[in-house]
Amino acid sequence: MLAPLTKRVLLQQYLYTCRYGFTYSTESCGTFDLVIVGGGIVGCATAREMLIRHPNLKMAIVEKENDLAKHQTSHNSGVVHAGIYYKPGSMKAKLCVEGLKLSYEYFCKHDIPHNKVGKLIVAQNKDQVKKLDDLYDRGVKNNVPDLQIVEKDTISKYEAKCQGEKALWSPWTGIVDWALVCKHFAEEFQKMGGKIYLNYEVTGFSEMAESKDKAELSPILVQSKDRCMPTKYVLTCGGLHSDRLAVMTGCDLSPRIVPFRGEYLLLNENKRHLCTTNIYPVPDPRFPFLGVHFTPRMNNDVWLGPNAVLAFAREGYRWRDINIRDCIEMAKFPGLYKLCFRYFIPGCKEIIKSIFYPLAVRDLQKFIPEISVKDVKRGPAGVRAQALDNNGNLVDDFVFDGGKGSIGSRILHCRNAPSPAATSSMAIAKFIADKLETDFKI
Ligand SMILES: Cc1cc2nc3c(=O)[nH]c(=O)nc-3n(C[C@H](O)[C@H](O)[C@H](O)COP(=O)(O)OP(=O)(O)OC[C@H]3O[C@@H](n4cnc5c(N)ncnc54)[C@H](O)[C@@H]3O)c2cc1C
Repeated sequence: MLAPLTKRVLLQQYLYTCRYGFTYSTESCGTFDLVIVGGGIVGCATAREMLIRHPNLKMAIVEKENDLAKHQTSHNSGVVHAGIYYKPGSMKAKLCVEGLKLSYEYFCKHDIPHNKVGKLIVAQNKDQVKKLDDLYDRGVKNNVPDLQIVEKDTISKYEAKCQGEKALWSPWTGIVDWALVCKHFAEEFQKMGGKIYLNYEVTGFSEMAESKDKAELSPILVQSKDRCMPTKYVLTCGGLHSDRLAVMTGCDLSPRIVPFRGEYLLLNENKRHLCTTNIYPVPDPRFPFLGVHFTPRMNNDVWLGPNAVLAFAREGYRWRDINIRDCIEMAKFPGLYKLCFRYFIPGCKEIIKSIFYPLAVRDLQKFIPEISVKDVKRGPAGVRAQALDNNGNLVDDFVFDGGKGSIGSRILHCRNAPSPAATSSMAIAKFIADKLETDFKI
C-alpha cells in the first residue's frame, strides 16, 4: 500500500519537478533522514550500527549493482585479521583488534560459518627474521591475543609441510565469507526498518535551493539516472568509486582511487591437505599489501595470492577488462606516474609473475616445497581501492570529506577505509556512527 503523501512530501515533489522536470516516485523511494551510498561491508555495517543506536531514523542504503557486496567485499581473501601488522596506536591497529573481537561475537550469535584456522607468518632468511621479531613486538603492543614465536624446528607442528627460518603463530586469525557477513548486516538493517535500493547508481547530489534553511525538510537529493531520493543527510562508502562520489559535492580530486588487482591461484584438490592454516610471508614494509599468501577458504578451496598489479578498470577483474574513462583518468593523474617511477622494478616483477604464473609458484615453494606448477591453476581476482595522493604516496589512513558549501555540511564521504576494512567493519561502523552523530547532530 502507498504511504499517505504528507504535505511535506508533496512540497518536495513539487520543488523537484520544478527544478528537474520529472518527478520522483514516493512509491519506490520516499524521504529519509540518512541515506548511505554503497552496499559493501562498510556501508552495511554502518547502516546497521546507526539503526541500532537510533531506531527511529528513516534510513536507506543505495547500491548501484543488482546485489550487495559485489566488489571488494566479495573479492577478498576472506581472512579475519588479528591486527599484527599495523603501527601501534594507529586507528588501523585499534579498529582491527576491536573488529576481530566484535566479528567473532557476531559470527557466533548469528551462526555464521567461520573457522579459526590461525596464521603463520614465516621468515625465510636472517633479514626477515629480524623483521619478524619486530612484527611480534608490534602485535604484542597492539594487544593481539596469544601471539607466539615459533622456532624453525617447530614450524611443522603448525603446518606439516611448511618450511622457514622462524615464524609467528596467531591462533585468533580466522576465515569467513565476508560477503555473507555483509548480507547479515543488511538483513538486520532491513528488519529494523531500513530500506535497500539496488540498481541505484548515484550520479550526483543536489540541494533543493528552496528548502535550504528548512531543517525539517530533506534538502539533499540523491540522484540516479532515473530516480531521486530526498534526505537530510548522506554518507557515502563507495569503495572503488569513493573519490568520484566525493568530487560530486565539490571535494578535491585527491586522494584519487587507483585500482590494484589482486590475482589468486587455486591449489588443486589433491594438494589442499598441504594448507590447513593461513601462511603469510613477512611483508615488505614499503607496501600496504601483505604479500602472496596461502589461504584456506570456507568452501575448502585453497587460494594462493593475491599479487598486486595495476588494473585498467576500477572493476577490472581480468587483464582484458579495460575502461576508457578509468584509463584516461589514470593517465591524467600525476600521483600514479610518481608511484610507478618509485616502484618501477617491483611493479614490473609483479606484472611478469602475473603473466607467467609459474614464476609466482617459485615464491610459494619457499614455504611449501611440495607444491609444483602442475598443482595450481589460475583463480579469481579482487580489485583494491588504493587511495593515492598527488605525490604518489599510498594513503594508509581514513579520509573523510564533505564538500563545498552548505551541501558539504550534510554529506560525509568515507573516501578511504583502509584494509582490512572487512575485519574492522564493525569497529569502523562505530567510529563512523560517532562521527555522524557529532557532525550531523543526529
Ligand atoms: C584482493 C583483496 C583481498 C582482501 N583481503 C582481505 C581480507 O582477507 N580480510 C579483510 O578484512 N579485508 C580484506 N580486503 C579488504 C576488504 O575487502 C575491503 O577493505 C572491504 O571489503 C571494503 O568494503 P567497502 O564497503 O568499503 O567497499 P566495497 O565492498 O567495494 O563496497 C562499495 C560499494 O559501493 C558501491 N558503489 C560505488 N559507487 C556507487 C554509486 N555511484 N552509487 C551506488 N553505489 C555505488 C559499489 O558497487 C560497492 O558495492 C581485501 C581486499 C582485496 C581487494
